[in-house]
Amino acid sequence: MKVLPALLAGCLTAILSVAASSQKKESPPDVFLVTIDTLRADHIRCYGYERIQTPALDRLAQDGIRFAQAFTPSPITNTSHTSILTGLLPSSHGVTDFAVPLSPAYPTWADLLHQQGYHTAAFIGAVILDSKTLAPGLDRGFDYYDNFPQHSQTKSRWGRLERRGMDVVERAETWLSAHPQGPHFVWVHLYDPHDPYEPPAPYSQIYKDRLYDGEIAYADSALANFMGYLKKNRWYENSLIVVVGDHGEGLGEHHEDTHGIFLYDSTMHVPLILKTPRSAGGAKMKVVEAQVRTTDILPTVLDLTRNPAPAKLDGESLRLYFSGMNAAASERTVFGETDYPLRFGWAPLRSARGQGLKFIEAPRPELYDFRQDAREVANQYEPWNVQVKRFRVMLAEIRAKAPPGGDSRGSIGQATIDELKALGYLGSADAGSATNVPQPSLLPDPKDKIEEQNLLHRAMIASEDGRDAAARDYLRNVLQLDPKSHNALRQLGELELRSGDYVKSAQHLNQALEVRPNDATAAFYRGQALEKTHDLPGARDALEASLKLMPGQIGARLLLGQVYLALKNAKAAEDQFEAILLLQPSSIEGQLGLSKAQIAEEHFNKAAQQLEALSKLQPRNADAFDLLAQAYSGLGKQAEAQRAEARAKLLRTLK
Ligand SMILES: [Zn+2]
Repeated sequence: MKVLPALLAGCLTAILSVAASSQKKESPPDVFLVTIDTLRADHIRCYGYERIQTPALDRLAQDGIRFAQAFTPSPITNTSHTSILTGLLPSSHGVTDFAVPLSPAYPTWADLLHQQGYHTAAFIGAVILDSKTLAPGLDRGFDYYDNFPQHSQTKSRWGRLERRGMDVVERAETWLSAHPQGPHFVWVHLYDPHDPYEPPAPYSQIYKDRLYDGEIAYADSALANFMGYLKKNRWYENSLIVVVGDHGEGLGEHHEDTHGIFLYDSTMHVPLILKTPRSAGGAKMKVVEAQVRTTDILPTVLDLTRNPAPAKLDGESLRLYFSGMNAAASERTVFGETDYPLRFGWAPLRSARGQGLKFIEAPRPELYDFRQDAREVANQYEPWNVQVKRFRVMLAEIRAKAPPGGDSRGSIGQATIDELKALGYLGSADAGSATNVPQPSLLPDPKDKIEEQNLLHRAMIASEDGRDAAARDYLRNVLQLDPKSHNALRQLGELELRSGDYVKSAQHLNQALEVRPNDATAAFYRGQALEKTHDLPGARDALEASLKLMPGQIGARLLLGQVYLALKNAKAAEDQFEAILLLQPSSIEGQLGLSKAQIAEEHFNKAAQQLEALSKLQPRNADAFDLLAQAYSGLGKQAEAQRAEARAKLLRTLK
């Protein structure tokens, strides 16, 4: 009887070792995702564009499968990337604006592979995808997410707002070399083709008349570097590699310079190249002509890595298109969504594309027939058209399925708003959101406003470059098109505030607030301008109004506290500084302000206690010692007062 257990144990060992060896043979493939920002499919050589060299993309397409007709559901970076990483439409995952957190209810690529034992890391090329500011939640499931430094001293956009493609891939390669243990899931984001177009040499020379193409060619060279690294480390062959654009670029088509406002193919048609791992078997098809979507990528990856897909996805695996299972599989209907126009006070857009047609739901709806009108210029819309009705039903179904949105706006700090503007996006969401505009069709049609948007965009980029005169001209041009353009008035107000023309600044901001009284940020800027013109009661009222709309603004509270001190209302000042310390207990400026108010109220004891503690924490802060001297002096402690004063003086001379 003792033989049997021994035999069983032997069998078990044999079975286990077979399992282990087969597991070793079929170790899960590494997965690499490369997203290239602002990449039009029709500006890549293997997509038929002969005026560019993109050898890395072309080579990958040779080794893998090229999808000739792939589409993003969103023309905006963080929304589009969230769709790639969740397999969900924007209205499903809810990240329809900057800084909206991705709900933990939706598992991402990184989550799902991490659960299967993958080592995960992400390397981003712009702050627009920084999970600490503009893309909260996108880092979920990543062991390492390469955010930008939170406090950067540099004035240059490189390192502060953007990283060059070569920098991004080198950071990814460094991480991989330090973490050789697989399987890996690594996401690399190359931001280069995004405007402004400033490719480095030699691309700036080779493509000097087409700098956008130069950026693409440069991004391709960064991709070549990464692929070379994977090959050198023998990770290439058995890895699953996906390269995809997050959206395209208008380049003036439909009068759109960049992207975000419209849903035409110029910004929605993206390149998609997929190289399968050796273990998945060779692909039967090298080029897939059927219309597919970037929401289909996640289910494809899960399918090819033999992992279960989440129950609710808006995409489906693309395997049948290239495995020979069903090469004649029908196209996938593509849906497009953009809420970006809402930031300007214009109607959001929705689209559906299929059977050679595209329908765009807008205040003035559009229908295009690609069989005779590839550039989407001849609008065939008629409300009774059967296809229009069918598309409208589909869009209504998506709307009905979307989770009820709360306030879709993320909470954005001022530093983040400045970053957004520096990248050329409108910084504030005060203009409205999908949730507080019940009838978007009552808003202006973006088609009628696109020239304004181009000018506003150019003004933002000019401002960021310090070209104030050019920015002023662009904004005046906007006001010629629409004298009540809130965005132009507000940007002019900000520009004059920075340039030191405070009277003009206050005038522009006043007009901006007449158009849109709920703009807390404009009210804050107006408070700053009025304080500079020594209109203290005016500044007080503007800042109070701003804080009523948005109570968490620390900068506005600090200024209001100072204004109350100048108005000799120490009690009101104290309230403001106390509120700041509730929001941010470690705020040095809040503590100094509070002490000032206490001294003004002759609460010397309280002030001295607080300043003694602060001066220990900040032994080089001259202001703290100056105030401490005042507090001691008020308490009749002359010797201590003199010592504190001497210390403040010394610190100032040391500076
Ligand atoms: Zn983008």
